[in-house]
Amino acid sequence: MRFDVLTIFPEYFEVMHTGIMGRAVRDGRFSLVVTNIRDYSLDKHHKTDDYPYGGGAGMVMTPDPVMRAIEAVDPDHEALRIYLSPKGVPFCQEMAEELASRERVLLLSGGYEGIDERIIELGIDREVSIGDYVLTGGELPALVVMNATARYIDGVLGSEESTDEESFASGLLEYPHYTRPRVYRGLAVPDVLVSGDHGEVAKWRAARSLEITAERRPDLLAKLGIKAPKTDG
Ligand code: SAM
Repeated sequence: MRFDVLTIFPEYFEVMHTGIMGRAVRDGRFSLVVTNIRDYSLDKHHKTDDYPYGGGAGMVMTPDPVMRAIEAVDPDHEALRIYLSPKGVPFCQEMAEELASRERVLLLSGGYEGIDERIIELGIDREVSIGDYVLTGGELPALVVMNATARYIDGVLGSEESTDEESFASGLLEYPHYTRPRVYRGLAVPDVLVSGDHGEVAKWRAARSLEITAERRPDLLAKLGIKAPKTDG
């Protein structure tokens, strides 16, 4: 799979050469091509923004450098072209899995007050938001989308890591984890986890997963049509 990122701040993506993502890129599990939108500006100062028609605060990303960059990296429109935007559809685990099944995904990071609407009309397939808050640019959202998506690409996670049992995989939040020592600052690991009884461990984890989801994200339970479990409190 190939990711293309279009940005005015390519240095943000150096983090993709670190940790699990870095290992995956080095092993050729996916490729990442970062393109600086400024390189496609015909302006002598490589300008990529201008004042908004109609007035108002801030600047707007001009259409020509972005369109020229999109057409240079994806001339035959083979990639799913995503614009990261607070107005987009909310990103979620399901979308990450869907994106991982594609050959190519292009991520356009906006900046300033946003991008000229005609870029979206002419060159974008989908607008995606990473949450109900506004960041200064689309670079962190692009990194979030890539990281969550890449975890579903074969061979990116080692055998000790897995997407199967974690939060959202089953529609619920995950159960708590413990490792050594058995007692830490007076807090002991639940007995069931050291009992060696795999059936009981699985039951305990399922129950905790349900409780945590009911407490923190009742909307997820409602989506699954599950009633919140009764608690003592
Ligand atoms: N004026 C825009 C609005 O109110 O929707 C916000 C523009 S924001 C300052 C600049 C850029 O950051 C956007 O073009 C987008 O690419 C990115 N961005 C900011 N918040 C985002 C979010 N929650 N999800 C995805 N992209 C975001």
